[in-house]
Amino acid sequence: MTSTPIELRQSDWQSTLFDDCALPGCATPVAVPGDVCQSCLVAFGDMLNVRTDGPAHDPERVRAELAARDASTRDQYRAQAATVAAAQQVSTRKRNQICWLCDERRTCTATDGRWECADCQALPV
Ligand SMILES: [Zn+2]
Ligand SMILES: [Zn+2]
Repeated sequence: MTSTPIELRQSDWQSTLFDDCALPGCATPVAVPGDVCQSCLVAFGDMLNVRTDGPAHDPERVRAELAARDASTRDQYRAQAATVAAAQQVSTRKRNQICWLCDERRTCTATDGRWECADCQALPV
């Protein structure tokens, strides 16, 4: 087994010495910001709309646009993770809690900051 250069993978989301390939998820360095790497060109050649309208690109702008796109992707991932965490919190159950409705010591679920047993939770509101 050979060791993998982990530093390379970790630099995926960071700006490095090189600019990454314009395709999402591809971290192959390219010389020109916004450009597509050779392997992506081979893989997606027909689907890619490669601009050949000269050096009109402002490298800084392309870089900023790609960074904004990556940031929004990251935000979506983060929001997703937060939703999962919230769902897990809602379903927090603990044994030996006093239900605020029936005053019994039971296994309760934290609901709105109060402990509520399964029976009381099943009651119609
Ligand atoms: Zn690529
Ligand atoms: Zn109860």
